[in-house]
Amino acid sequence: MKVTTVRKLTTLRKATALRLLAVAAFVFSTAAHAQQTDFAAAQVKVTDLGHDTFMLEGVGGNVTVAAGRDGAIMVDGQFAPMHDKIKAVILAVAGVPVKYLVNTHYHGDHTGGNAAFAAEGVTVVANENVGKRLAAGTTNPFTGSKTAPAEKSMIPKRPYTKDLRLSAGGRVARVGHPANAHTDGDSYVYFADANVLSTGDIVTLGRYPLVDYTNGGSIGGLISAVDGYLKIANDKTKVVPGHGPLADRNTLVSYRTVLATARDRVAKLAADGKTEQEAVAAKPFPDLDKQTGANPQQSDVFVRGIYNSLKR
Ligand SMILES: [Zn+2]
Repeated sequence: MKVTTVRKLTTLRKATALRLLAVAAFVFSTAAHAQQTDFAAAQVKVTDLGHDTFMLEGVGGNVTVAAGRDGAIMVDGQFAPMHDKIKAVILAVAGVPVKYLVNTHYHGDHTGGNAAFAAEGVTVVANENVGKRLAAGTTNPFTGSKTAPAEKSMIPKRPYTKDLRLSAGGRVARVGHPANAHTDGDSYVYFADANVLSTGDIVTLGRYPLVDYTNGGSIGGLISAVDGYLKIANDKTKVVPGHGPLADRNTLVSYRTVLATARDRVAKLAADGKTEQEAVAAKPFPDLDKQTGANPQQSDVFVRGIYNSLKR
């Protein structure tokens, strides 16, 4: 039967590809600045999540790929120079081209691949605020560094407001927008058939999430978003975080506690009349730093993000 043959071939191709990739699996740290990264040497690590669904780690935010019969849905596209490698890996493991690319937010380590994928006919999907931020250009609240307005080819062709359902070759993605969390244009993607939840940077493991408060992010929104994820996830859900290793519902529970604890401590410092600098100097997160693996600089940035978002 024709269908069986195609299935077998695809499975064989996947198995071979996964073996090859496992041999060459070097995971580069998700560097915040593209220019510091040796993209030529970067490798893509693939984790098979079952049900033709994969997590890809390279340089930038984690990528999720759900392969349907004749097309795949992809969540996030890393930095622009990673496009060729990611595309090749997706073809190898999924055996089908990408139909949709969902951006979980506007940051360059998630949207860098937009133009190249769009040029190949992929429809880029995101909350409407992603396109607005990209088109206007943005300023990093912590470093002051500016990102110029993006080329038109970078802007998602299909903006949505509240939620959206995408389908490709039998695969369905439930896309939702948690308000004012990491940014004001966040999306999560849930693949119910595989029980895989892609959270975007609302869940950032190995450090703290960035509260991008000048671009609509807030600590309260981050906590609410994680509460929403806890409603979607069950004990078997595979959680693909924006950054960091594959996680599960238990990770979300302890992560939520970290966020709420951090918020409460900074709120107390602010209520006591401390300035932003004084709140940072108070070093309020020694235990949380240890728990999350955050370094002192990431800890300071988290205090600043919470402090400023509480003021707004
Ligand atoms: Zn981000």
